[in-house]
Amino acid sequence: MSQLQRIAIAPSQLQQQQILLSKEQQHYLVRVLRLHEGDRFIAMDGKGKSWLVQLAGEQAQVLEPISVETELPVTITLIVALPKGNGFDEVVRCCTELGVTSIAPVLSDRALLHPSPQKLERWRRIAAEAAEQSERSFVPTILEPVTFNTGLSSVIDPLSLANSQQYICVARGEFPHLRDCLHYKEQETIVIATGPEGGWTKQEIENAIAVGFQPVSLGRRILRAVTAPVVALSLITAACEV
Ligand code: SAM
Repeated sequence: MSQLQRIAIAPSQLQQQQILLSKEQQHYLVRVLRLHEGDRFIAMDGKGKSWLVQLAGEQAQVLEPISVETELPVTITLIVALPKGNGFDEVVRCCTELGVTSIAPVLSDRALLHPSPQKLERWRRIAAEAAEQSERSFVPTILEPVTFNTGLSSVIDPLSLANSQQYICVARGEFPHLRDCLHYKEQETIVIATGPEGGWTKQEIENAIAVGFQPVSLGRRILRAVTAPVVALSLITAACEV
C-alpha cells in the first residue's frame, strides 16, 4: 500500500460503500495527483478507519477496509502558546507528523498573536494534510484558541490524572530534562505545554504546577517557540514508540 496516495475524508462522506468526493478532493485527485478513472487510493476518516478505494467519477468506490498501524500507543495533548507570524502552521505540521493527538493553541500573557477565525480552519487543513502525508490514521484535533488558564483546565481531566503525565517546558531554571521524566505506559495520556517567544510568566508556571504540571527542561540551549514543541514531541515519541 505504500505507493498509494491518501486523502482524509469526513466520516459523513461515506455512504453505502461509496465516498462522495467534494469538488476540492476531485480537483486534488484528478488535477494535482493526476489519477484516472479506476485508479486506486486510500481514504481515511481521520478517526482510525481507512479504506482502499477506486476513483469512479465524482465518487470513490470502497474496495476493502485496510489496517493502518502508525499511531503511538499513548495520547499526546500539546498546549502551545501561539507564536508570532505563521509559526503555528509549522508547529501543527511537524507535531502531526510526530504523532500528536490534539493541539490546544493558547493565548498566554506574553503571546504575540491573536488569531483570526480563519486561522483555525487553516490549521485544521494543515493537520489533515500532514496526517495524509505521514500516513497516520488519525487527524489530530486542533482546539479553539483559549487563554492559558482555560486551556490548562480544559485539557486536564481530574478523574484521569492518575493515568496522565503533565509537563510544562520552562527555558530557564534548574529543572529535570523531559527525557528523564517520561515513563512509558501504554494508553497513558501525556500533556505537554510550550511557551511563547517571551517565555511563560512566573504566574503561568505557578498555575500549571498547581494543577499537576511538572516543569521540565529540553536541554541547555534556548529553543525558539516553534522549535520547542517539535523537540518535546520528538522526545515523547522516542520514549513511547513501540
Ligand atoms: N524568552 C525566553 C527566555 O529568554 O527565557 C525563552 C522563551 S523560548 C524562545 C519559548 C518557549 O520554548 C519557552 O517558553 C519554553 O516553553 C520552550 N523552551 C525553549 N527552550 C527550552 C529549553 N531549553 N527547555 C525547556 N523549554 C524550552
